[in-house]
Amino acid sequence: MIAPARALWLVLSHCSAQPVEQVALDEALGRVAGRAVRADRDMPPADRSTMDGYAVRANDLRSVPRELKMIGEVAAGSGARPRVGPGECVRILTGANVPPGADAVAMVESTEEVSPKVIRFCAKVAPGENILCRGSVARRGQVVLDKGTRLHPQQIAVCASVGADPVSVFARPRVGVLCTGQELVSGSGRAARPAQRDSNGPALRAALLATGLARCEVLGVVEDDPKALRRVLRAALRDCDALLTVGGVSAGKYDFVPRALTELGCREVFHGVAMKPGKPTLFALGPKGQLVFGLPGNPLSALTAFHEFVAPALRKMSGMTAPPPTRFLVRLCKRAVSDCADRTLFMPAQLLFDPSDGAPTAIPIEMRGSADVVAGGQCDGVVVLPEARTYKAGSVVEFHLWSPMA
Ligand code: AMP
Ligand code: MG
Repeated sequence: MIAPARALWLVLSHCSAQPVEQVALDEALGRVAGRAVRADRDMPPADRSTMDGYAVRANDLRSVPRELKMIGEVAAGSGARPRVGPGECVRILTGANVPPGADAVAMVESTEEVSPKVIRFCAKVAPGENILCRGSVARRGQVVLDKGTRLHPQQIAVCASVGADPVSVFARPRVGVLCTGQELVSGSGRAARPAQRDSNGPALRAALLATGLARCEVLGVVEDDPKALRRVLRAALRDCDALLTVGGVSAGKYDFVPRALTELGCREVFHGVAMKPGKPTLFALGPKGQLVFGLPGNPLSALTAFHEFVAPALRKMSGMTAPPPTRFLVRLCKRAVSDCADRTLFMPAQLLFDPSDGAPTAIPIEMRGSADVVAGGQCDGVVVLPEARTYKAGSVVEFHLWSPMA
């Protein structure tokens, strides 16, 4: 058995960023920029008004009130360029290009319309006031998004503003999910009494999709038969960049996964992690360097191992340079006990913000072992309890977030 931190380190040291591909900007949400995105022109491309008001010569308003003659109007997108001479002004709307001769915009709220052609100004303006100068947001050629940035809506806005469509992004690995166990049945039909409904298949597919960093290939359920297992694993290793097997990975009589992987040319990196749940977790490299994760079958074990090892691997493969903060410290709001000598306990917990000071706080969830999907259904993630002892209410522990915050 190796420590969870060592296991994670080993996993990460075997992942590298995926190749880069081009996608339409409409398809790019949640992808990661595979190249720096640059401004294709100065931003804004001309001096622009940030207010509705009047383009003026600041010098004309050194003493106020003062009346100026209105000689025209420019709206956003308008091609009009009336020249503003001394004693004159031009009506201007937000986002319109500042006409020649003007060096400031007086906002409409500090003016009065004396007549359709005469405007009274009640406040001074400084040169440059209410003008966003050409190139002040970005110069043509300047990097506006670094390579490795995740494309959330605000970054999609940047791409759209510089015409980066299509946009270069890191490819998403194709990840296969294969469940093992002759007791498993899939689907919503009435399950026979001894059968176990497959929850890991749907859960891991959902977990992969929730990361937004992988394409999921559902490979179904295979019975605990070495030959059948080898057949589906061989096909999966041919088609996938990474593979998650579920179940059949511990030391039981029907646990054929480790042997089948070895027979197919996979190289085991570790098998057994000092964690609870998730102790039998296996990590191997396929013949083409594919990442192969052998996850234990109990529902909470499979998800714990997914979030500890698979999700970080996907983040690294995605090329992201600043992965989101999924691990942070929280205060326990009630005591939690680990009786788990030599293993780190990952205990499902709810996350909330203490109303008194806003500090992140966790409520550990009582559960009946790692088969307790219902307890799992109440959690936002797990608290990490590395030692066998009582962690009193108020103790500060690590929290690993499972559900995205939005
Ligand atoms: P295993 O890791 O194969 O020994 O499985 C451990 C426990 O998890 C057994 O009770 C299995 O029935 C259960 N299990 C395995 N795979 C799944 C699955 N896909 N969905 C729900 N339970 C499972
Ligand atoms: Mg099994």
